[in-house]
Amino acid sequence: MKVLVAVKRVIDYNVKIRVKSDGTGVETNNVKMSMNPFDEIAVEECVRLKESGKVDEIIAVSMGPKQCQETLRTAFAMGADRGIHVLTDISLEPLSVAKLLAKIVAEEQPDLVILGKQAIDDDSNQCCQMLAGLLGWSQGTFISKLELSENSAEVTREIDGGLETVQLSLPTILSTDLRLNEPRYASLPNIMKAKKKVIVEKSPDEYGIDIAPRLEILEISEPPKRSAGVIVPDTETLLEKLRDEAGVI
Ligand code: AMP
Repeated sequence: MKVLVAVKRVIDYNVKIRVKSDGTGVETNNVKMSMNPFDEIAVEECVRLKESGKVDEIIAVSMGPKQCQETLRTAFAMGADRGIHVLTDISLEPLSVAKLLAKIVAEEQPDLVILGKQAIDDDSNQCCQMLAGLLGWSQGTFISKLELSENSAEVTREIDGGLETVQLSLPTILSTDLRLNEPRYASLPNIMKAKKKVIVEKSPDEYGIDIAPRLEILEISEPPKRSAGVIVPDTETLLEKLRDEAGVI
């Protein structure tokens, strides 16, 4: 079985995001970048499937500037076998990512595609659903458990108010939620081996996809600063403040 996993290079989740002074976006210069955390979970799941003998090959795909190759190398160090890098300096919208992935799926014919449930930079949560729509495939979003068999995948999904278990016929597209697994740290020998794994570089034009942005960002601004809290001496004062100052009771 062949599995395709999408890995996005994003600002590291530990970095405090700074908005550019002209409000056109967030500062990425000299900022630590890493693999999107949900994609690390996706890679980990693929590697576990390979270790259990259910998957033979893991292909990692990343789209964006040349540094995405580092993200692919991280996926290799975790256990992915080979990579496809769609090189572009244009910021990709989810629909463009989904269209490019659909082309790669048509070429590679995987049985399973695993994405993160959302990229933590733009928080779109759209690529998985759009890809399933474009391909006409079944989809299991926000999964916290996966049981893979030859022709189907049984997944547990995190939904409002509980968990839902669904059976999907293969090929299918899944998106990972936080509780699916805990990604491993790559070992030094695996980081060394990752240097030798092959990345094929492609351009959006080769896939015939027009990636021109359809959306215009009007402004990005910092959230309003929170004022400092106060310690009140007793519950009487707290109630007074809630009633007279905050007007919430
Ligand atoms: P989104 O719908 O943009 O929140 O992204 C959901 C998932 O789609 C991510 O977790 C990735 O698995 C995949 N994805 C989005 N953008 C890219 C990209 N530029 N390169 C590779 N995968 C991506």
